[in-house]
Amino acid sequence: MRTQRQVVDYSLKKRAVLRELLAGRVGTYDVCDASPYLKNAARFHGEPTEERCPICRSENLIHVHYIYGDELKHSAGQARTLAELPVLAMTLREFQVFVVEVCLGCDWNHLVEQFLLGRDGLAEGGSEQGAVGGVTAPGIGPARERRREAQR
Ligand SMILES: [Zn+2]
Repeated sequence: MRTQRQVVDYSLKKRAVLRELLAGRVGTYDVCDASPYLKNAARFHGEPTEERCPICRSENLIHVHYIYGDELKHSAGQARTLAELPVLAMTLREFQVFVVEVCLGCDWNHLVEQFLLGRDGLAEGGSEQGAVGGVTAPGIGPARERRREAQR
């Protein structure tokens, strides 16, 4: 997503948790504690991945995208599908996205990353204009984004 910024990657933290688990310092009970809400969000708004669950290795992980921000009002804290995010990013100035991975098999869940989205990001660095390559996530129409920009 081209307006994505201030990305915080939590993969190191995740690896640390998995190490603790292997070492027996934490139990699966402590890390496989997905709430019914999170699991529902994964079922209805989640993005399936090709990545196997690191705990049970029987299910693929599902990414859930939670959105936060003042502009969202009552929608703040809700889960959205990946396809909905670029639409919001064109409508709102700024909002925060938290990506959580969930396994519906064993209830493993962990924060994957967080980032900001929104029109504010378009004001910075116009040099990448036209750079629509393989970096765009599936389901996002770069052509539409370009058209919107042309209107500005
Ligand atoms: Zn699992």
